Amino acid sequence: MSTALQILQTTFGFTHFREPQQAIIEAVVSGNDAFVLMPTGGGKSLCYQIPALVRPGCGVVISPLIALMQDQVTALQQLGIRASFLNSTLDAQSAAAVEDALLNGELDLLYLAPERLNQTRTSALLESATLSLFAIDEAHCVSQWGHDFRSDYLQLEQLQQRFPSVPRVALTATADARTQQEIIDRLGLEHAAQFVVGFDRPNIQYRIGLKNNPRQQLLRFLKDEHPQDAGIVYCLSRKKTEETAQWLTEQGFDALPYHAGLSAEIRAAHQARFLRDENVIVVATIAFGMGIDKPDVRFVVHLDLPKTVESYYQETGRAGRDGAPATAWMIYGLQDVIKLRQMMQSSQGSEQHKRLEQHRLNAMLGLCEITSCRRQSLLHYFGEDYPQPCGNCDSCLDPAKTWDATEACRMALSAVARTGERFGVNHLIDVLRGKETEKMWQFEHHLLPTFGVGTALDNNQWRSVFRQLVGRSYLSVDMEGYGALKLQEQCRPLLRGEVAIALRVDQKQKVVKRQTKTPLPEEVDVGLWEALRECRREQAEEQGVPPYVIFHDSTLIEMCTLLPQTHDEFANLTGVGERKLLKYGDAFLVAIRRAQDEAAT
Ligand code: ADP
Ligand code: ZN
Repeated sequence: MSTALQILQTTFGFTHFREPQQAIIEAVVSGNDAFVLMPTGGGKSLCYQIPALVRPGCGVVISPLIALMQDQVTALQQLGIRASFLNSTLDAQSAAAVEDALLNGELDLLYLAPERLNQTRTSALLESATLSLFAIDEAHCVSQWGHDFRSDYLQLEQLQQRFPSVPRVALTATADARTQQEIIDRLGLEHAAQFVVGFDRPNIQYRIGLKNNPRQQLLRFLKDEHPQDAGIVYCLSRKKTEETAQWLTEQGFDALPYHAGLSAEIRAAHQARFLRDENVIVVATIAFGMGIDKPDVRFVVHLDLPKTVESYYQETGRAGRDGAPATAWMIYGLQDVIKLRQMMQSSQGSEQHKRLEQHRLNAMLGLCEITSCRRQSLLHYFGEDYPQPCGNCDSCLDPAKTWDATEACRMALSAVARTGERFGVNHLIDVLRGKETEKMWQFEHHLLPTFGVGTALDNNQWRSVFRQLVGRSYLSVDMEGYGALKLQEQCRPLLRGEVAIALRVDQKQKVVKRQTKTPLPEEVDVGLWEALRECRREQAEEQGVPPYVIFHDSTLIEMCTLLPQTHDEFANLTGVGERKLLKYGDAFLVAIRRAQDEAAT
């Protein structure tokens, strides 16, 4: 029997385990149950795949992501692992073949849709087979408190009674404390070994900037940093996703819209293009994302502000699953805040629900307006300590300048107070800057002591002051639809002159790190990189699989820097196991040699 480490090296082509894979694998191999909370991209799959290979029998993986099963199984078969799946996409004959294989002991891993567990046929099948383990993927789906509850998952409660000697491992990337407890209760995992790893995604660079000319800002960002990468652009409205996709297409990008208003066929087609190709941009509403398991998404853009930090983190988390550098890029402005606040006020829910939503939005705004490390603040929100500034967010890379805005804020707040908390930003700025408009005469605001006191700042600077006062909850936005600003309790000490306040100086968004293509380190020869991508494309086409199933970007980058010349050297690359060495070694070695020859002549 091979050991876990041997399998890691020879089958998967990785040199060592990541924390805490080894401990999880040891627990499951020795027959214990386990509960695993690890961030996306952390390496959860190996935690059940390797035990399934070490233990006798077949490992059963329960997953709600039916659309992905085919790709997951193909990727495993590429490694020489005997994997199959059973779900509603199979016809009766293919399903029968899979069942036979299971009963004959010819399978290492079987992916199963949760609704199958309700069928007596499946129960009988599983009872007559030798099973090495149950892996319950996306385990948060069993929790009614969590946001992806699936009733089929409730069936999983019975596994423990029906298969008492088969170890179960439950895995998830998104579960707050309450959801974790519910998973453990429902699945009967009180005695399971528990592994809770932090939420941090170190390879994602978080950047949040100010919206001034969104299309041009987006274009600059894409051209400078991700000219040929796959990514997701999130917008608030369906209309905007279509317009933005159309516009990006005119600018030469391969962009597709995605929202719940498109037909199922179009959505499926766009999603398939995104998964299979390497440089498709999907411009989407939040309808896009659940189960998007594409490892090489290099950027996630937010053109509109998400409503909560949770959604921001989940959406940006779709970038960089392969561990290579990726960017989470967002721009926002005062209008976003006003629009969201009004949407929430006019929504159906109870007052309590609305208050909770406002509360969550405030946290999101807080994240936008802070001048310290974004990652520290994000992780803190999820209850985690991150001791030092991260060095990989815009606050760390390009520290925001602040200015003493005490005087300006007092002027702004007093303009709000003296006009009776009934006016929106534009009029308030006119008052401060002493503009003699018709509205001014109508309400006699030219007679106020605040009229014209603020000529030292221009319109944009005043907008920035108001945005930050709203963002930091000194002001609230009126519910009735005109966007009138109102004073909040916490501005009193400021108005009375008892405290000072520093605000962020709004800068035009700078390019933080200029790169031709994101994942490329400087020493990589772009010609060789392109040649290897081409080689990978050819192989993928031949096999009918997405390119990343052949090799991840990180393996290609290693080829570019280590320049292997022999089979032995090739076998040392991360992600090259025995099977892939045999299958692809020659093709890539030839491509490397050819590119080197060309460079030399
Ligand atoms: P998760 O399911 O937690 O989101 P995956 O299991 O898909 O993450 O793993 C994420 C990536 O990390 C995959 O590309 C996987 O091959 C890689 N990976 C996992 N474990 C290791 C390891 N020990 N060494 C190198 N790469 C690893
Ligand atoms: Zn930081």
